[in-house]
Amino acid sequence: MNPDNTSILLIYTGGTIGMIENPETGALENFNLEQLQKHVPELHNFTFHIDTYQFDPPMDSSDMDPEAWCKLVHIVNDHYEKYTGFVILHGTDTMAFTASALSFMLEGLKKPVILTGSQLPIGVLRTDGKENLLTSLEIAGAHNADGNPLVPEVCIFFENHLMRGNRTTKINAENFNAFRSFNYPILAEAGIHIKYNNVQILFEDANRKFKPHYLMDTNIAVLKLFPGIQENVVSSILGIEGLKAVVLETYGSGNAPRKPWFLHLLRKACDEGIVIVNVTQCNAGTVEMERYETGYQLLQAGVACGYDSTTESAVTKLMFLLGHGYAPDEVRERMSIPMAGEITV
Ligand code: ASP
Repeated sequence: MNPDNTSILLIYTGGTIGMIENPETGALENFNLEQLQKHVPELHNFTFHIDTYQFDPPMDSSDMDPEAWCKLVHIVNDHYEKYTGFVILHGTDTMAFTASALSFMLEGLKKPVILTGSQLPIGVLRTDGKENLLTSLEIAGAHNADGNPLVPEVCIFFENHLMRGNRTTKINAENFNAFRSFNYPILAEAGIHIKYNNVQILFEDANRKFKPHYLMDTNIAVLKLFPGIQENVVSSILGIEGLKAVVLETYGSGNAPRKPWFLHLLRKACDEGIVIVNVTQCNAGTVEMERYETGYQLLQAGVACGYDSTTESAVTKLMFLLGHGYAPDEVRERMSIPMAGEITV
């Protein structure tokens, strides 16, 4: 690849970064990419070419869904050869879900796909959007002497940190420092220089072809345990018609109540072919189902280990695997094999 040919496609989906306050209601509403660009004249200072693509109308990320993820996959696929990298402007609320989904849907990716957004609109004086946008573009355009991209992964860049997308979680509704990758080191840190943590970056096998995927099955539920959870709550969720998988958010290293009704319901659901994946409610650390009796019994009931997966990653990976028609046993097995660096086994 010729380094001089660096060109980025900037995709604007919506989110606070591109919003403006409605003077009548005071609520934040979307405005278009052209207006957004006016607030960032620095965009013209990049030495490489930047083209833009805008969702019309822009979306608050609360409305993001697999259909919108597919749209993004189509855009990346349609422009894959033409651009050396992609930056996606996205609302922060569900950015970690979109980043996780894209990491699975863009198989064999060898170019940067950097998601970013902001907590304050780009037109506001103290906005964090400008820095996030400009540094994301710089990272998406960064390459080595051979012209190969430095970060050929789906990432989130936020408040000076570049993180693997499928390892991220939104942790703060108002601070600029809103995302964390608790279980995996950051891929780069932006200060005076951008320091890349090369050993942590995923480089795809050169022989693995880029392949976009569009099939996602949303017959999934998330069941978060809490002390005192009632039998009818668990049985109602596990009894949902058409349900194929559950992300079970357990305590600590993957522990759950030992109540016989609870284990009976889980065992029955597993036997009926519902895939139940154990992830921890803790921000950091991993599920170890053999560590305590309270986790071991889940294993015996047929619950699969989610290791150190985020809920966002487990949900989207399950959608991906179920969408591709894998049988329950195969889905369980694949949940324990990293697809895009999303778990440490
Ligand atoms: N509600 C907005 C969104 O996620 C919040 C943000 O962008 O920070 O689209």
